[in-house]
Amino acid sequence: MSAPSFFAREEHPALVPASERGALLANPGFGKVFTDHMVTIRYTEGQGWHDAKITPRAPLVLDPATAVLHYAQEIFEGLKAYRLPDGGAALFRADANARRFRESARRMAMAELPEELFLQSCRELVAVDREWIPEAEGGALYLRPFMFASEVFLGVKPASEYLYMVIASSVGAYFKTPTGVSIWISEDYTRAAPGGTGAAKCGGNYASSLVAQQEAIREGCDQVVFLDAVERKWVEELGGMNVFFVFEDGSIQTPPLGGTILPGITRESIMLLAREEGLTVREEPYSIDQWEADVASGRLREAFACGTAAVVTPIGRVRGCNRDFRIGNGGIGVATDRIKARLVDIQRGVAPDPHGWMERLF
Ligand SMILES: *Cc1c(COP(=O)(O)O)cnc(C)c1O
Repeated sequence: MSAPSFFAREEHPALVPASERGALLANPGFGKVFTDHMVTIRYTEGQGWHDAKITPRAPLVLDPATAVLHYAQEIFEGLKAYRLPDGGAALFRADANARRFRESARRMAMAELPEELFLQSCRELVAVDREWIPEAEGGALYLRPFMFASEVFLGVKPASEYLYMVIASSVGAYFKTPTGVSIWISEDYTRAAPGGTGAAKCGGNYASSLVAQQEAIREGCDQVVFLDAVERKWVEELGGMNVFFVFEDGSIQTPPLGGTILPGITRESIMLLAREEGLTVREEPYSIDQWEADVASGRLREAFACGTAAVVTPIGRVRGCNRDFRIGNGGIGVATDRIKARLVDIQRGVAPDPHGWMERLF
């Protein structure tokens, strides 16, 4: 694996000094502290993948006619490298991100990066920027692989050139509040329609979700939750997180994938861990009316959102035009807490990893 690297390495002329880095890592927040390096790999039709490099992190220079700036052919991933108790580091399920990145590329008619290149690019960036992995509980090095149409052309067609990159950000907790988040039911906007790009991790999905997120904030909520685009009644997911419901009989439920929901790796991991614990796990549609009724009757006990960035976050309150209901005491419930601990303990390397989800890097 550490055979001659495919990646050319450009020496950094001026790394961030250790004292400055230490200050940044003390309270990194989310997505604003970046490491010293970045990965770039180019794709050119007829030539394939070439010019793989690890270089000092620096701004890009783009021609104003670069295709992505006009037609949004862009995809991304998000995964974390965790500090292990012995000082080493490991990636969590990076192979699943590599596969999903290829599937997103296919949906957006982009060149598909070989999974091994994706993995190698992540491994090498973590290795070169290893000092940037926070040690504090809840901290991690968040990797952001992404790819965009870099061809300079205004014609509407799949580009013949792409730039793949990986940058890394030292992160702490995603949400500042330790308690449950409040979510706003979007009635005017949908996130994804059948046949659309809801299952692809592309920037365009986020661009179209922002006006709904803005509405949620205006209404005093933390996040938006989207309903299906056809019947406008089935709960799908948040802007960037999947959703789970916990019932009084101990079973859990999450909306089924089917093209309009992003197949979250956290979602899949939670389903597997819950089934191993003997819980009943359903992937079935759940309507907003039923959610409200089940909260009123006591059948629904907890709800939570999940994703790489925020891990597991309890949903404390749900609001919409004609709705407003609280879940439990508004904080984290016992089942949510347990599921979160099961996952986080594996990721932090303090619990056994029977599925081989963690890949130790050093
Ligand atoms: C990335 C993402 C998720 C969560 O996926 P994970 O693999 O668990 O990080 C959920 N929904 C959307 C829309 C996303 O983009």
